[in-house]
Amino acid sequence: MEEASALRLISSRIRDIPDFPKPGILFKDITPILADPTAFRAALDLLATVAEPLRPTQVVAIESRGFIFGAPLAAQLGVGFAPVRKPGKLPYRSAREEYTLEYGSGVLEMHEDAVSGQRVLIVDDLLATGGTAAATARLCQRLGAQVAGFTFVIELGFLAGRDALDPNTPVRSLLTF
Ligand code: AMP
Repeated sequence: MEEASALRLISSRIRDIPDFPKPGILFKDITPILADPTAFRAALDLLATVAEPLRPTQVVAIESRGFIFGAPLAAQLGVGFAPVRKPGKLPYRSAREEYTLEYGSGVLEMHEDAVSGQRVLIVDDLLATGGTAAATARLCQRLGAQVAGFTFVIELGFLAGRDALDPNTPVRSLLTF
């Protein structure tokens, strides 16, 4: 599919939910993308197209909607996958990092041997304030990885999340609102 039609299709499959999970937040629901196999395929193909030139050796994705795009993207790129999770979910020794997000704050964890020596691509469904992605990058760097780039399906441009990320690391979003 042509890139412009793919982006139109993906965009048409994003559902805006006002005041979720808190008043004032316009939640971008990506489940209609997942429900449409052509749109889901198109999103993965476009993510792979922007990811390939960054030459990642591993995909790192953030619980839980990041997993939905990150795991099939890793398989498509032919590289490994490492999950970043909320506290207490990972079974092996883990490192933790605090973060803030558009509607709260929290802690992320990753297995301490998950990314050592890798060039990681950090993947999530959406870039809002950038707190989650920045914390993931710090966690990866602490664990001995180099960050090859960040990819998102959606970027909320008005929140300037990319300003929270290292200016020397490429940030690629399929759609910006
Ligand atoms: P942030 O750390 O502020 O960039 O927030 C990014 C994380 O929060 C991602 O994992 C998103 O899935 C989620 N998120 C934040 N804001 C929204 C929103 N308006 N719609 C959907 N997901 C959001």
